[in-house]
Amino acid sequence: MPKEDDSASDYSDNESSHSDEEEDIEDYKKGGYHPVNIGDRFDNGRYIVLRKLGWGHFSTVWLTLDTLTDSHVALKIVKAANRYTDSALEEIKLLECVKKTNPESKGWQHVAQLLNHFWHQGPNGKHACMTFEVLGESLLSLMKRYNYKGIPQHIVKRIAKQVLEGLDYLHRECGIVHTDLKPENVLVWIPNIEDYLKTDTADILKEINAAPPNIERRRSSTASWKDGVADVDSISKSKKKRLKKKMKKKNEAIQQNNEDEDELEDTLGNLKINTQWNNSNTSTVIPSCTLDITTIGSEKELDNIVVKIADLGNACWMDGEYTHVIQTRQYRSPEVIVGAKWTNEADMWSVACMIFELLTGEFLFDPRAGSKYNKDDDHLAQILELMRTVPKLLTTGGEYSRDFFDRSGKLKHIKKLRYRRLRDVLHDTFLVPPEDADAASVFLLPMLEMDMSKRASAQQMLKSPWLQETT
Ligand code: ADP
Ligand code: MG
Repeated sequence: MPKEDDSASDYSDNESSHSDEEEDIEDYKKGGYHPVNIGDRFDNGRYIVLRKLGWGHFSTVWLTLDTLTDSHVALKIVKAANRYTDSALEEIKLLECVKKTNPESKGWQHVAQLLNHFWHQGPNGKHACMTFEVLGESLLSLMKRYNYKGIPQHIVKRIAKQVLEGLDYLHRECGIVHTDLKPENVLVWIPNIEDYLKTDTADILKEINAAPPNIERRRSSTASWKDGVADVDSISKSKKKRLKKKMKKKNEAIQQNNEDEDELEDTLGNLKINTQWNNSNTSTVIPSCTLDITTIGSEKELDNIVVKIADLGNACWMDGEYTHVIQTRQYRSPEVIVGAKWTNEADMWSVACMIFELLTGEFLFDPRAGSKYNKDDDHLAQILELMRTVPKLLTTGGEYSRDFFDRSGKLKHIKKLRYRRLRDVLHDTFLVPPEDADAASVFLLPMLEMDMSKRASAQQMLKSPWLQETT
């Protein structure tokens, strides 16, 4: 098992946490995130950073003004280590294919489209940068708005249909497997966002333009800006303690870092470098300011919700034969867990897990390690409790099958299984009315087929009656 947690292909510890956390300050290091200040300019001054929109394990994403088109775009700045830039180059190739293949396809509009890409050299290395249309909050933040009690069913149906359309386009027309479908990676599209942003960012832009060039801007000054989710006063005591500890460590590291930077500056000579390097003494992390529809319109807008699949950072072409670990833990398919060959059907498993979560606010599978079994054992046990039988393909066909299953196809480390039906989970645990629980379960089960060759495709799922009931 790789020991670093930040390899682009290492999913071994990648879990969805449902927390409000921002990126780890310690990832602002050589090969890591690029330290960004509000007002920074990118691509020879073309893009001006106005706010932070979000972050992922591979990048930070910023709201910027594109001075060439006088419109706003999202700027994704990928970590600098080779493994991240390599996968960013692949992401760009995949995104270009998505953009070109068939703009007329229904699914095209449900995948976030790449606008531009370029490189940016900073203190932590050379970063791949990509720009996208500005989108709003992720489905994770939408779930939070409903206090993790589930999003109303009619809205989930609309979302499910669009995600499946986007996925059908990726699979059938582009030949791409996403590999990391989860609520964080599906973003809400906001109508007339440009008009809203023009007014909303006017003051920030004025402030930026009024500041003398190269002035040291306080990163923390943005904490009070609208919609900040990581307001220093609102974080918990334990988190404050952790942050303090991290900041102390960071300050010690800065001393060393500044020396390294001087050295690097000499080496790089006359390369065009963002002038605000030395402000990279990041003592705070800028809070994300996600845009939600209700800020811009009324709650009613949610009935007409439009979503887009984002983050092709781990996507791959469907023509290869893969066995490496993909997907964030809770959305990981059984063939991936046992180390069998996987392809686009793995995405369908994740979609089912995600839709269940949107309906209920809770993970469908959330495995934990015990004293006698590991997380994978527990994950397979949870899956078996729901699906009951497991095909031979999985009990013997995966690289790790023998670690989990005995010769009779039974789990080796967990003997006691509490079988349950999906409709009963929905009804008994989440109090979904019986008819709705039945219908949702009939809809979800074909995507949770253990045998990949029998699992429903996005194209097949789009014909499901459950989706046709969408208003
Ligand atoms: P990573 O590969 O690091 O996970 P993502 O592409 O998932 O990066 O982006 C990280 C986060 O940034 C997303 O979860 C979302 O909150 C925000 N984000 C990404 N793209 C956009 C966009 N086009 N508009 C608004 N926010 C975005
Ligand atoms: Mg992501």
